[in-house]
Amino acid sequence: MDFELSDEQKDIKNAAREFAEKEFTEIARDYDQKESFPRDLWRKACGLGFVGLFIKEEYGGPGLGILDHSIVMEEFWRVDPGCGNILLAVFGAEFIQLYGREEQKKKYLPPLPRGEAIMGTAITEPDAGSDITAISTRAKKDRDGYIINGTKQFITNGSIADYLIVICVTEPEAESRFKRFSALLVESNRPGFEAIKITGKLGIRASDTAELTFSDVYVPKENLIGKEEGQGFYQTMQLFNMNRVVAASQGVGVAQGALDKAIKHVKQRKQFGKPIGAFQAVQFKIAEMATWVEAARALYYKAGWMIDNGKVDPKLISMAKWMAGEVGVKVANEALQLHGGYGYIADYDIERFYRDAKIVEIYEGTKEIEKNTIAREILGRI
Ligand SMILES: Cc1cc2nc3c(=O)[nH]c(=O)nc-3n(C[C@H](O)[C@H](O)[C@H](O)COP(=O)(O)OP(=O)(O)OC[C@H]3O[C@@H](n4cnc5c(N)ncnc54)[C@H](O)[C@@H]3O)c2cc1C
Repeated sequence: MDFELSDEQKDIKNAAREFAEKEFTEIARDYDQKESFPRDLWRKACGLGFVGLFIKEEYGGPGLGILDHSIVMEEFWRVDPGCGNILLAVFGAEFIQLYGREEQKKKYLPPLPRGEAIMGTAITEPDAGSDITAISTRAKKDRDGYIINGTKQFITNGSIADYLIVICVTEPEAESRFKRFSALLVESNRPGFEAIKITGKLGIRASDTAELTFSDVYVPKENLIGKEEGQGFYQTMQLFNMNRVVAASQGVGVAQGALDKAIKHVKQRKQFGKPIGAFQAVQFKIAEMATWVEAARALYYKAGWMIDNGKVDPKLISMAKWMAGEVGVKVANEALQLHGGYGYIADYDIERFYRDAKIVEIYEGTKEIEKNTIAREILGRI
């Protein structure tokens, strides 16, 4: 058994931290306030090879793993979660790499790490969130392709993406409700596609989120991901397996970043004639926060390592995602508390971490849905 990252992974981690500290620190508050995607930053990160680490060499990436991608995500989120989500510019590339046909991989994957295209994945709808079998966006066969109608809600990169994977109903009459869906690749310049940017988010405000409407959007049959219809639900579950590990790394990153700020503050801030870090009640908090972060990191490392070694374990993945989400929220809360009134003010940045942390308990499956998965794997369906 070996708990060490490889030398290459350590180098990637250090390089990601150095990049984030140099490039995010000055601009993070501004992008949070103006709620806009930092395009120049994303291009720089692409130029240095941080974006799309899991994309195979034959499709323009370095061919590393989900764990490597997650390690970079953690370091980026540690410095700023909103800016850190520039790494999600490849959100859905895993889907194409796993299930796409060769022509699709060659066409849609190489522009992503080069910084020439942004993508997204549209699953959620106004009436289909946790229950994705309630998806109603319809793709009807027409002229050697499909006509899509429907609405997708809360889509990351929705208003900036060049193309998106869109989960649609293709076979409404299928006996099994799990076989009704297919994944279609939709270019955002197709007539009938509209994206309305959502503003006023609590956190990760530099990350783009949009509502999408599809009004008679035509895509050719070549845009179906995979060889046959009816696979969309199963493909989406596999995507979740990978992206929940990535989301877990976000929770660990925001927690570690908040802890870093708390450590710095309790050493500097003096009350009752000594640094507040000298009080045992404060020391216990720091000890607990550090332990939670370490435990959550160990879980996502293991879950990610297993995926990269061909052993996908949905129970472990959901454990990692749930725990990291909760640890992010708990640690950011305690870190803000340790800052006292200063924590409540934007100048100290910890209030942003407090707001940013919450999303990890919601997207890529809420924490309740993660617990459903864990319990089902343990108890079976009862
Ligand atoms: C910033 C942001 C970015 C996002 N990005 C994307 C994206 O790129 N692509 C995409 O497709 N979606 C995206 N989402 C959507 C996100 O995945 C959903 O919001 C999430 O899955 C929850 O769905 P919902 O909001 O409809 O909540 P609901 O499903 O309505 O859940 C509401 C509450 O009920 C609970 N609940 C529901 N069912 C159960 C149950 N069976 N047992 C116990 N509790 C239950 C939930 O846990 C939750 O607490 C994003 C959301 C946000 C906010």
